Amino acid sequence: MTTIELPKAYDFKSTEERIYQWWEQHGYFQPVNDPNKPGFNPSLKPYVISIPPPNITGELHLGSALFVSLEDLMIRYHRMKGVPTLWVPGSDHASIATHLQIEKALRREGTSREQIGRDEFLKRAWLWKEKYGGIITSQIRRLGASCDWNRERFTLDAGLSRAVREAFIRLYEKGLIYRGPRLINWSPGLKTAVSDLEVEYSEEPGKLYYFKYMLADSVDDNIPVATTRPETILGDTAVAVHPEDERYQKYIGRKVIVPILGRVIPVIADAYVDREFGTGALKITPGHDPNDYQIGQKHGLEIISVLDTNAQVNDKGGPYQGQDRFECRKNLWEDMRIAGLVLKEEDYVLNIPRSQRGGEIIEPMISNQWFLHMESLTKPALVAVRSGRIHIVPEHFNKVYYNWLENIQDWCISRQLWWGHRIPVWYCKECKELTVTRTDPTTCTHCGSTNIEQDPDVLDTWFSSALWPFSTLGWPDKTPDYKYFYPTTMMETGYDILFFWVARMIMFGLEFTGNIPFSQIYLHGIIRDEHGRKMSKSYDNVIDPLIVMDKMGTDALRFSLLVGSTAGKDMNVSTKQVEPSRNFVNKVWNAGRFIITSLDKIEEPPISELEWTLADSWIWARVQELVRDVERLFHSHQYGEAGRQIYDFFWSEFADWYLEVAKLQLMEGADRAYYTATTLVRVLDLCLRLLHPFIPYITEEIWGYLRKSVLNSPLSEIAANWTDGLIISSWPDPRQEEGWEKECITDFSLIQDTIRAIRNIRSEKNVKPGKLIPAILTAGEKTEIFNQQKKVIAALAQLDPERVEISESLPPKQENHVSIALGSVELYLPLEELVVISEERERLSRALVDAKSQADRLEKLLASSFAERAPADIVQKEKDKLISYRITVENLEKQLKALD
Ligand SMILES: [Zn+2]
Repeated sequence: MTTIELPKAYDFKSTEERIYQWWEQHGYFQPVNDPNKPGFNPSLKPYVISIPPPNITGELHLGSALFVSLEDLMIRYHRMKGVPTLWVPGSDHASIATHLQIEKALRREGTSREQIGRDEFLKRAWLWKEKYGGIITSQIRRLGASCDWNRERFTLDAGLSRAVREAFIRLYEKGLIYRGPRLINWSPGLKTAVSDLEVEYSEEPGKLYYFKYMLADSVDDNIPVATTRPETILGDTAVAVHPEDERYQKYIGRKVIVPILGRVIPVIADAYVDREFGTGALKITPGHDPNDYQIGQKHGLEIISVLDTNAQVNDKGGPYQGQDRFECRKNLWEDMRIAGLVLKEEDYVLNIPRSQRGGEIIEPMISNQWFLHMESLTKPALVAVRSGRIHIVPEHFNKVYYNWLENIQDWCISRQLWWGHRIPVWYCKECKELTVTRTDPTTCTHCGSTNIEQDPDVLDTWFSSALWPFSTLGWPDKTPDYKYFYPTTMMETGYDILFFWVARMIMFGLEFTGNIPFSQIYLHGIIRDEHGRKMSKSYDNVIDPLIVMDKMGTDALRFSLLVGSTAGKDMNVSTKQVEPSRNFVNKVWNAGRFIITSLDKIEEPPISELEWTLADSWIWARVQELVRDVERLFHSHQYGEAGRQIYDFFWSEFADWYLEVAKLQLMEGADRAYYTATTLVRVLDLCLRLLHPFIPYITEEIWGYLRKSVLNSPLSEIAANWTDGLIISSWPDPRQEEGWEKECITDFSLIQDTIRAIRNIRSEKNVKPGKLIPAILTAGEKTEIFNQQKKVIAALAQLDPERVEISESLPPKQENHVSIALGSVELYLPLEELVVISEERERLSRALVDAKSQADRLEKLLASSFAERAPADIVQKEKDKLISYRITVENLEKQLKALD
């Protein structure tokens, strides 16, 4: 027999990279049932996840570490269940984010995108992508992600670009895409339109400015109006009042004069006006406010844009032309004060719209943009979730989803950027018609002129992301991958992009493929710091997952994130929280190492018939219970809870108890050692399989050693069917209970309680570790069990085995003994070896008071309506507890008497 040497400590640094390469080289990340390969069986249902494509500008943060860990867990679990699994990786071109990076680099060189031109700019962007775009994917690999890298995609690659073009054209031909001047969110910093979702609102101190709108037909009369943005006065095209407002009724239909500019505008009536707000009269600027825009549309008001794309006043702004919007605000207000039009200023908290990317204040502006008509797309998307075809975890996000889709606005899909999918529309300079075709045209399809020019804008990044689940599989072609792997199974992502991405994928999936893109959605929460604050550079509280992995290993990080997270809930994380996971990983290593090493001592197959000890049966019953629990929890997507249960079992039952008992059993040698080793191997094997989706590296490493050692030992039959790698081994099958388990678990718990009690007394009384003490036990109907477990109890509680007496009932008065009552079992330890009597009396009295109050409490509870309302088994549990406390009280009283 060859001895297999495991290093004493687990070296994650050298292990992780080696194991990842080994997995990848053996093709374990590829689906076992591949439609492009011989032997393909189309009737096997696959499990498919498309990765939420990280931005190529991105670097791994804890949020990405969480989603990668979760998805890898789902994939590994299904792979082990024998389901053909596919996890499609890829990355997103991230239009705005990348664009900003390139512009920043150009600024550093003293140039700009306008100076170098579009072609050169795009060349730069592609070079940037080649250089930095792989960083994020290499970091995802490091997390252990078992994606099929042969199928990696990029949102701007040729296939996906074709998919985007096809999607645009189909929508255009259906009349769902239109171009027009609309009020949009303008980012003056980025010089592009941004969607409503890319605007973040923050409460900031500001002012409410009160001023007079002078009547055109009466020099003495005015309507008081308030605004938070005086510069927009330049674009006012009406003043609105509530039709039933008695103060202002006389003005309806008359005219007022725009301050400084002198334009004359109407006073209109609209029930939208809030009479309680400000002065109750509202200035209307359809060109720079979304609500005013609505009112303007309703009343057919003129729309005046007073700002240019830099947010500077244009030629409609009279004397303020060329001024920045905030400079104009100051100057105009000053001029109005001089003109006697100012009433007052009040401090006011504003809800300021800021650009999610650039941070500057968003300006609502009228702009010619491309829009996607959403209403017809939302209906099937609503039905898909309402009917249960798509299931969202956690369920309460259904409401959020419905609410958004029911109130959806048309989607502004054009962006004034260069990096992205260019809008496939060509304008003819001769006939002014549009050419929209699948391949780039050289002539106008209407008049044949070659004088055509492509729209300079690109599509919103989320347009291509919305096609992701099927474009990555080959759509619009009906490729073997598309036919087999679509619709995908699970969409796992953060709840914060439910609208940006998830809802749009559902709409596009239904529109283009006629099918839902996935049947399940799992939404994870946001990771916050230990105080619940968002992680941000400005708080200096960002935890870099790469540093955590360097210090404590990938498995420790994964385990912390997976066990700490619950669907839909935010989680607080600190580096300190990863330490227990690191300790756990080490615990697994040490336990594995002990078991593998102990196989060396097993020399021959057994002679006698199989006979399990109580501890063997107990740990087997418990591990089977664990397998059932984990299966149930995985089914309900409670991955964190499943991880906690495996952790608890492994640490506090398997390692702390069974391994200790097993050491004694192994020392007996011969058949006992053989059977003990069998149990050790089987339980460790099951634990490694259950833990693999959580901590893939260390489990694979130990399992490899275990497999080799078992095959080299007399126990080789156990591992006869084991696969080459744990990654492709089978998931433990939950087994039905056979009937013997409960009693066995109860009996072993009693032995554990007894040992714990003795250990507690020893530590309370400061008994020297290693000092063997005598004990008397009366165990009633459990006497036989206790007799069998005498050696175990003695060894684990440090009793002198020669001086342990076990009897069915209490021998006459045990004087000078410290006593412990454990339900029907009583334990006596001689005081002379432990303590002074007065302290013992005190201790027993305290225990008696406690047991009595517990018994009283339960009596009251059982006399109350609880006994009728609660389920019978719960009531029975409380009754059992009461009986147990009553026995304890009785025993304690006896023991106190014995001290007299
Ligand atoms: Zn033409």
